[in-house]
Amino acid sequence: MKQLSHWINGGFETSTSDRSGTIYNPATGVATTKVPFATPEEIERTISVARSASRSWGTSSLSARTEVLFEFRHLVNARKDELAEAITSEHGKVHSDALGEVSRGLENIEFASGIASHLKGGFSSQVSSGVDVHSLRQPVGVVTGITPFNFPVMVPLWMMANALACGNAMILKPSEKDPSASLLLAQYLKDAGLPDGVFNVLHGDGDVVGALLEHSGIDAVSFVGSTPIARSIYSRATASGKRAQALGGAKNHMVVLPDADIDLAADAAVSAAYGSAGERCMAISVVVAVGEVAEPLIDAITKRLNVLKIGPGNDPASEMGPLITREHRDKVASFVAGAASEGARVVVDGRDVMFDGDASEGFFLGASLIDNVQPGMKIYDEEIFGPVLSVVRVSSYSDARDLVNENQYGNGVAIFTRDGGAARQFTVEVTCGMVGVNVPIPVPVASYSFGGWKDSLFGDAHMYGPSGIEFFTRSKVVTSRWPDPATSVVDLGFPKTR
Ligand code: NAD
Repeated sequence: MKQLSHWINGGFETSTSDRSGTIYNPATGVATTKVPFATPEEIERTISVARSASRSWGTSSLSARTEVLFEFRHLVNARKDELAEAITSEHGKVHSDALGEVSRGLENIEFASGIASHLKGGFSSQVSSGVDVHSLRQPVGVVTGITPFNFPVMVPLWMMANALACGNAMILKPSEKDPSASLLLAQYLKDAGLPDGVFNVLHGDGDVVGALLEHSGIDAVSFVGSTPIARSIYSRATASGKRAQALGGAKNHMVVLPDADIDLAADAAVSAAYGSAGERCMAISVVVAVGEVAEPLIDAITKRLNVLKIGPGNDPASEMGPLITREHRDKVASFVAGAASEGARVVVDGRDVMFDGDASEGFFLGASLIDNVQPGMKIYDEEIFGPVLSVVRVSSYSDARDLVNENQYGNGVAIFTRDGGAARQFTVEVTCGMVGVNVPIPVPVASYSFGGWKDSLFGDAHMYGPSGIEFFTRSKVVTSRWPDPATSVVDLGFPKTR
């Protein structure tokens, strides 16, 4: 079985740990790789390497950093198939979807390449007699990124691109379920000319994260994962004096008003609910059907599910791959199993789907569609994170809005309608961080920032874009006077501007 190494100080380093995890190929169910969980000594040394590298990188010129980012962008793009293959072999998503993830990650490198512009400060001349003020942003120091399994390239790039462009050193702790792609990113950064020690990859589980959170050598923590862990990471990191942002789970609704184009809405619902087997934080998991729209919409979605091609991610014919692990697949299936006893109607049961050949050994589950779902049912109240779409029927726009606003999560939401006034009202009234109008997965482009409300985000800082630049820098304001020595006098009063 393959053994993974950490990436420390610009190269692979074999771990001496006696703790490890097992990585599977989800399409075959075969254990392929052992991933070590870093020892306390390995954590200590990585932090010390990163601290020392952060000093010179943090004072390097913006043009030197931009040069590395340009080359890194070129390499990620040139080697995107290699990255996509690594993603598919450990995560299971289909190759085209893995390529899509890489291309959304590339956007973040492109944004960060404009760092000279993003770090521009302000300047006010003559705020008092002979006094000028300017502001600047400086790196935070050593930051750690802790990432989930579902986007093993894109989410690390959400953090890395801006963190490095801002002059920080970084320690990435990728998901232990699919960490190989992060080692490729480390290699590309080295090839792009990033100095050794500025970017490091430490493998591990919750214990390794705990050690990073408590270490005084880490200045900021950027986390993406499930809500219970996000909540705990945020409180532990801030309790130990660190800057923190922690993005959590989601339950994304798609409101379909009676005037919506049914085919457009059905296409959108199917791609947003079942793409990547529903293992997306912005996946649609609830369709809120307003009024008479429910029957035709359910029929249109069912028709599409009947022809959905499920199979290994490396088969170009597959549209939906397996789930990440056997345990997760079984947990998702248990939500479907419990739906009928809670009073919901199982329209399409993904557990019935049969597979050919090798796929029978993989962690596959077909697409499920559940109607007559209500708040209070487990299938509605919990994040499922699998290929299961619920339909909640409501009678009016305001019932739909209230349902969304009463949900504990507030990541993404979408409305499908031809009525511009209703859509605009919804964007104003809804309590979610990212809203789509006839767009089912409104992940903002990299020049905006990504982040949910309520239990989908802990802390104030959203991810990437302008918020990313703020998160990975500290601001400083300099007030200066260059007095004429001949007129200088002692004045013990509080500095005045007039
Ligand atoms: P997870 O919370 O299980 O793991 C995320 C990271 O936390 C991993 O690196 C893991 O090793 C680490 N971790 C696990 N247990 C820990 C513990 N006890 N203490 C400290 N660290 C721990 O999440 P996952 O299953 O890998 O990813 C799926 C979840 O991530 C879903 O809930 C999904 O909605 C969420 N997600 C959210 C966003 C977003 O932007 N809001 C994006 C992607 C995924």
